[in-house]
Amino acid sequence: MKHPLARVATRADLRAIIGEWRQAGLRIGFVPTMGALHQGHLSLVGAALETCDRVVASIFINPRQFAPGEDLDVYPRMLDEDCDKLHAAGCHLAYCPSEPEMYPEGSLTNVRVETLSDLLDGGPRPHFFYGVATIVARLFIHVRPDVAVFGQKDYQQLQIIKRMTRDLGFEIEIIGAPTARHSDGLAHSSRNLYLSAKDRRGASGLFASLHRARTRIETGTKIEVALAEARNYLAKCGFSKIDYVTATHPETLETLPEAEAKKGAEGRLLGAGWFGKTRLIDNIAFRRPD
Ligand code: AMP
Repeated sequence: MKHPLARVATRADLRAIIGEWRQAGLRIGFVPTMGALHQGHLSLVGAALETCDRVVASIFINPRQFAPGEDLDVYPRMLDEDCDKLHAAGCHLAYCPSEPEMYPEGSLTNVRVETLSDLLDGGPRPHFFYGVATIVARLFIHVRPDVAVFGQKDYQQLQIIKRMTRDLGFEIEIIGAPTARHSDGLAHSSRNLYLSAKDRRGASGLFASLHRARTRIETGTKIEVALAEARNYLAKCGFSKIDYVTATHPETLETLPEAEAKKGAEGRLLGAGWFGKTRLIDNIAFRRPD
């Protein structure tokens, strides 16, 4: 049976459909994903629909953002189910390219957003954000959307994409959509499935710790004190390792010194930690009162 959501696998087929939309003067939104879709991804489709007439989602598991030994081979693949979900969310077209479609044989060109890619999650995995920027740039060229929506959940990624878009002059509006969460605050993520019932309960402590740190900072507690409290709380929740809990400038992601965070400064609190082999990340905005 033909699937109700139009699905294309080649750039030529994609351009044929998008070309018609463009001729009709429609505004086109784009949501890039790696599939295994959950509520978080679908909320991005909703955000795109708010400002666009047509929404394209891509499903492509990008080999260049996995290092040897990372979970590329076991990354969940469920294309039909994903297309059902996209259709139900109001998406108009799925772009599911093959690897040679995205990386023609002999491809030598990569995109690196310097500095921003080497901080935080990029520190121990330098290849990761180069892979992300490279695939998103290629997808932007294939789709040529008016708007592209990314999740604030992956906050560093969002800043890197904004910067790349500005630096390379893509005429695309980048929207950072709010993080979709479970009722206890845990951000939706395909990785949550790897958590045991006990760890799943402790995992909600990541958002709780950042939320509490925000309240403490906004009511005048020193940043370092609030961050230390958050780290202690994560340890109590059962996190086996904490990579970072930090307060940064919202765009450069450089550590925000106490002195600069004093008067009305906006910042971002970011945290990353592990339950066994499962790594979770989250973040939240804060603003010091004037
Ligand atoms: P991925 O398929 O993991 O590469 O993610 C595709 C997009 O979904 C990225 O822009 C992510 O930031 C976004 N995303 C993932 N989880 C969430 C969430 N819980 N809320 C909002 N966006 C999300």
